[in-house]
Amino acid sequence: MNRNLGEFEIIKTYFSALALSEKGAFNLTDDAAVIAIPAGKCIVVTTDTIVQGTHFLSEDSPNNIAAKLLRVSLSDLAAMGSIPAYYNLSIAVNSNTKSDWFEAFALGLLADQKKYNITLIGGDTVATSGPITLTITALGLVDKGKTIRRSGAKFDDDIWVSGSIGDAALGLKVATGKLNQISEANKNYLRSRYFKPNPRTLLGPKLVGHVNSAIDISDGLIADLNHICETSNLGAKVQITDIPLSNAAKDVLSIKPDYIDLILGGGDDFELLFTADKSFQKIKKKLTRALDLNLTKIGSIISGDSIQIFDQYGEIYPLPKFGYAHF
Ligand code: ADP
Ligand code: MG
Repeated sequence: MNRNLGEFEIIKTYFSALALSEKGAFNLTDDAAVIAIPAGKCIVVTTDTIVQGTHFLSEDSPNNIAAKLLRVSLSDLAAMGSIPAYYNLSIAVNSNTKSDWFEAFALGLLADQKKYNITLIGGDTVATSGPITLTITALGLVDKGKTIRRSGAKFDDDIWVSGSIGDAALGLKVATGKLNQISEANKNYLRSRYFKPNPRTLLGPKLVGHVNSAIDISDGLIADLNHICETSNLGAKVQITDIPLSNAAKDVLSIKPDYIDLILGGGDDFELLFTADKSFQKIKKKLTRALDLNLTKIGSIISGDSIQIFDQYGEIYPLPKFGYAHF
């Protein structure tokens, strides 16, 4: 079956099954959802939109599109220290969007709902003559007054990152055929890091009370560190040789050393960057073990308003271009 569907048929056939576990979603049959907020908690809300041709390509698998869409929002929830709870989904689709696409898209969402323990509670479905446009508004829960902010960095904080940095930017190079001189296994790994990022939804809430600031790395390592610096009115120094790299990224750099600029500047890793005082060292060991996730210190917060990057010779390395220019 591969035909066009009406709005209500789309909601009923593909999306109502995703809302089963929350009674207050009323099987997506009422005007809106009604959600109770647990005592002592507040809600963290974040919205992200992706547009066909800009953030994903027509030929990308709907399954990957669903994963990326949801995971980008989950990453924002994690950066604020919140636990994922609910999301709304708004879709603008066109006459080329057939039932096969919806089916695979909804299956992708379902898989991630299970993985991240989050439930669909509503949305909107409209037709467009333009590119497919998908918006998620995700809601997370955190103890009142405990959200982690970008603006909380303190002088002399250590700067930490989760996982490995730069894989997604290299994965995009692989996906667009611009990085061929590495093994198939490494290509697959880097591609998957681009298409299916792993938002640090377990780490974020565990950082609450132990760190001073956090951000998720979506624009690029240095660009996002710069967001922390600007909102905290401080500077930072970063040691390039301390930036954690996957084996695949190390392999790429051994062939193309200048791709270090992609590691520093490329976005879409969806790791967490956070700053904390020295006492974090004690918690770090426990967290790393419990989450099976590397946490690596890459630098420290300094006075002033500049970011200084140091190379292996202790020399200042030029700042990469900041992030992705949307407009
Ligand atoms: P209204 O016209 O009052 O906005 P809709 O017909 O747009 O209502 O939506 C009916 C119900 O279906 C609402 O509960 C809405 O949240 C839900 N809904 C619509 N589109 C989606 C979607 N893409 N995903 C999830 N829920 C949806
Ligand atoms: Mg509507």
